[in-house]
Amino acid sequence: MATIGHFIGGKAVGTSAVNTDGRTAPVFDPSTGAQSGEVLLASTGTVGEAVASAKAALPAWSETPTLTRARIMFRYKDLLERNIDALATAITKEHGKTFEDAKGEVTRGIEVVEFACGIPHLLRGDFTDQVARGVDVFSARHPVGVCAGITPFNFPAMVPMWMFPVAIACGNTFVLKPSEKDPSASLIMAELLTEAGLPAGVFNVVQGDKEAVDALLTHPDVAAVSFVGSTAIGEYVYKTACAHGKRAQALCGAKNHLVVMPDADLDKTVDALMGAGYGSAGERCMAVSVAVAVGGIGDALIDRLAPKVRSLKVGPGLDPDSEMGPLVTREHLAKVSRYIDEGVAAGAEVVVDGRGLRLQGYENGYFLGGTLFDRVSPDMSIYKDEIFGPVLSVVRVDRYDEALRLVNDHEYGNGAAIFTRDGDAARAFDRDAKAGMIGINVPIPVPVAFHSFGGWKRSIFGDRNVYGMEGVGFYTKLKTTTARWPTGIREGAQFVMPTTG
Ligand code: NAD
Repeated sequence: MATIGHFIGGKAVGTSAVNTDGRTAPVFDPSTGAQSGEVLLASTGTVGEAVASAKAALPAWSETPTLTRARIMFRYKDLLERNIDALATAITKEHGKTFEDAKGEVTRGIEVVEFACGIPHLLRGDFTDQVARGVDVFSARHPVGVCAGITPFNFPAMVPMWMFPVAIACGNTFVLKPSEKDPSASLIMAELLTEAGLPAGVFNVVQGDKEAVDALLTHPDVAAVSFVGSTAIGEYVYKTACAHGKRAQALCGAKNHLVVMPDADLDKTVDALMGAGYGSAGERCMAVSVAVAVGGIGDALIDRLAPKVRSLKVGPGLDPDSEMGPLVTREHLAKVSRYIDEGVAAGAEVVVDGRGLRLQGYENGYFLGGTLFDRVSPDMSIYKDEIFGPVLSVVRVDRYDEALRLVNDHEYGNGAAIFTRDGDAARAFDRDAKAGMIGINVPIPVPVAFHSFGGWKRSIFGDRNVYGMEGVGFYTKLKTTTARWPTGIREGAQFVMPTTG
């Protein structure tokens, strides 16, 4: 059985039979339920070694010209493309999502690397000539130092790549703490960075759980923390990191609504809901888990959705015929099933019930069929909570303003979408919906790498989104210099606040 270890100072650490940290966690193949490996759980001491390695690499790396850093990113992009199948296979085996979907997540990660290839341009500063006589002002962005990334199970390649390509290209060094549920992709990404020419210590990986996270949050040499995961943990991570004087951002949970207007193209809307509701078994922070049917379109929507949900091809992620794989763990399967029980008990109409699905040959896999609820109301737990499974709730309302109120009153505000042919309604929704990412006839509006990703309300803590120019801002400190060179003007000492002129 594979032992999955750390990556510190440019090499794999602790992958031999000897586990120096003592604690481990099992890693499973969700499609069979069989244990496939064992991941080391870093002690505070191991995290200290990784931070020390990143700190030691910082002076030389931050002084490395931006063009040299960019060229490493170019080579890294090429290596990721050439190794996309290996990365996607590792993801599918530990996460469960389909192989094509895993390739999709790697591709979205590569797009951030492409963005980071432009770092010489992105770090160009500002210069203002002659702000006062003989005085110029210029601003430059400097690296913040050792950065840490703490990432969730649902995108083991893409979410780390939202962070480290930008952080590293900006001249920082990095310690990644991936999810212990699907840790292997992190090591492939680390090896490829080394192959691309990244100096040892610039990128490190510590596998682990709360102990490793706490060690990073409290370590005096960690300057910035990026977190992506659930709201409860994200709030804790943000507060703890801030209390220890670090720059912090935490992107968290979601309950994304898709508003279906009476004039929407129903075929396209239903296709969009199928992909956004059931793709990756609903384990996406941008999954649509609530469809709001406006003004009597509910019956037609349910009539078209139900047969498609019933005929979803659920199977192992490596089977090319599968449209939806298993859930990530047995515990998560039990949790999602419990939510379905609660929905039924609360009086929602279960149109398609995915509970109890058993696949021949995969009887111990963590499979759940697609589930569709109708006539869900806002007081039900299936509406209020992030289920993170293949469960779509339809809520019926009479008018657009009721749909908007649902979106805006929910505690989460990651993404929200509207499907309509009415430009006026779409524009109003875009302006008025309290969410960070809006889709207009687009169900999963994950911004491209040269924009930025982030929600509103309790879907984020901190004031910076990830990647794009927001990422550059998060991973750099601004320095602004006011300069005067001897010009022959001799004014003597001045004791009043300098003004222009
Ligand atoms: P999680 O919060 O359980 O774990 C995230 C990270 O925190 C992992 O690395 C984990 O090891 C660590 N962690 C877990 N418990 C901890 C504790 N008690 N103390 C310190 N660290 C701890 O999240 P998950 O289940 O891996 O991922 C699913 C969640 O992530 C969902 O809520 C989803 O919406 C969210 N997510 C959000 C975004 C976004 O951009 N907003 C993107 C992807 C996933």
